Amino acid sequence: RELPGDPETGSRMRQVDGALYSRVDPTPVTAPRLLAHSAEMAQAVGFSEADVAQPWFAEVFGGNRLLDGMQPLASNYGGHQFGNWAGQLGDGRAISLGEVVTACGDRWELQLKGAGPTPYSRTADGRAVLRSSIREFLCSEAMHHLGVPTTRALSLVGTGESVLRDMLYDGHPAYEPGAVVCRVAPSFLRFGHFELPFARGDHALLRQLVEFTIRRDFPHLHGEGEALYAAWFGEVCERTAHTIAHWMRVGFVHGVMNTDNLSILGLTIDYGPYGWIDNYDPEWTPNTTDAGRRRYRFGQQMQVAWWNLSRLASAISPLFASVEPLQAGLDWYASTYATIERRHAADKLGLAESRTEDDALHAQLRGLMAQAQIDMTLFYRALLDFDPAQPGPTPAMEDAFYDADLRRQHDAALRDWLARYTQRLAQDPQTREQQRDRMRQVNPRYVLRNYLAQEAIDQATAGDLSGVHTLLEVMRRPYDDQPGREHYAQKRPDWAREKAGCSMLSCSS
Ligand code: AMP
Ligand code: MG
Ligand code: MG
Repeated sequence: RELPGDPETGSRMRQVDGALYSRVDPTPVTAPRLLAHSAEMAQAVGFSEADVAQPWFAEVFGGNRLLDGMQPLASNYGGHQFGNWAGQLGDGRAISLGEVVTACGDRWELQLKGAGPTPYSRTADGRAVLRSSIREFLCSEAMHHLGVPTTRALSLVGTGESVLRDMLYDGHPAYEPGAVVCRVAPSFLRFGHFELPFARGDHALLRQLVEFTIRRDFPHLHGEGEALYAAWFGEVCERTAHTIAHWMRVGFVHGVMNTDNLSILGLTIDYGPYGWIDNYDPEWTPNTTDAGRRRYRFGQQMQVAWWNLSRLASAISPLFASVEPLQAGLDWYASTYATIERRHAADKLGLAESRTEDDALHAQLRGLMAQAQIDMTLFYRALLDFDPAQPGPTPAMEDAFYDADLRRQHDAALRDWLARYTQRLAQDPQTREQQRDRMRQVNPRYVLRNYLAQEAIDQATAGDLSGVHTLLEVMRRPYDDQPGREHYAQKRPDWAREKAGCSMLSCSS
């Protein structure tokens, strides 16, 4: 259904009823140029490094050319945004080119983001700017290497065109360079895909989508009807719990956990105004649009995901005779999250087992990190070099404080915590080396701090892509000490605290 659009821009508003996608081709760009690619991802979908270097590669992944068999489409979904039902949204700037099925049977959907308008673009332009595209490209790969379930990124292509955006720092429109990211996942289905047919009362389409999703993306689930749907919902809950627990482990804040931004596979999806925790602050959100309510703050992510799952439960409720299986799924989410969170908490301290009485130890540390403004990543990593025979703060721990006054004020509290930790370590059956190995696998040395991405963006905007390439390289091995790369393992410098792009970001750029 065509709705009245904007007569000035000529943009059209469309409601697409009874269908979950529309065929649409990418809009060609002036001068596609490959700026970066992920070698692992290229290999996984079957492109050699020689392919990547060919001009056709940039043309295809900039949206200027299709490969044989590609039938591009934009998908249709709705969503709850900031707690309210927003109606039909859909892929306004994402266009799926098709799926690759590899020799070993893996299935990857290739999706361009920023490839031009679709029937779901509403009043927007379907494009993405270079800075946001660099952030999505780098963070997708960084998260993967950190062991967090995520959509991936194959390529970053500059378009040679500029895009008009309201600049963050002064609110005035300005032209910025445009880019297209090709992101990759087994599926880009979101909770919002299920909410839309539900909201429209189209239960036949809803059932068809659920059946399709289970057959394609959850082939290991067997049975039929309600029992099958219940098992499927339980697995969606479990996967979501895993992913959120990993976010909390590495200090990632999604920033815009609307139901259209939650993946049915439990992947981290939609890298918009995300951010990384520097000083440990459960109250922090990187999203300027959310600054007032702070719905999407770091410490709230477990609860928000629960709320989103309850929206999904409600959307699929017409397929169930009673709500009990759905309630059971939500309970499974909460208990799975609690189990994994405890496991991570123990691992981060190097402990073989997680005991109930350890909760107080973890809570004390978190409280200390928050009050004393301690850098989360640096502090946990510093625990690797802590020597229980000399149970005082190490230089690396002292360096994890942002404020010298706060460090002095909390010195006694830190010593107290280290003393308790030392006692607890004494009860742990592992050798010190085993404890350190355990910590090394969960406490990253390198995370994609907001200011690091911004440095690479500033360089790239000036035409130098080396910062993007180096950062990608560093983030490929986030748990290894990489000599000579200390720059990437430091706390946020003072200049970055309030700088646009380094701390606060808006949604759709
Ligand atoms: P997000 O806040 O990124 O989750 O986006 C919310 C909705 O806005 C989705 O339907 C997007 O496809 C759409 N959207 C965001 N940016 C653009 C854009 N530049 N052009 C068209 N649609 C957009
Ligand atoms: Mg989105
Ligand atoms: Mg987005």
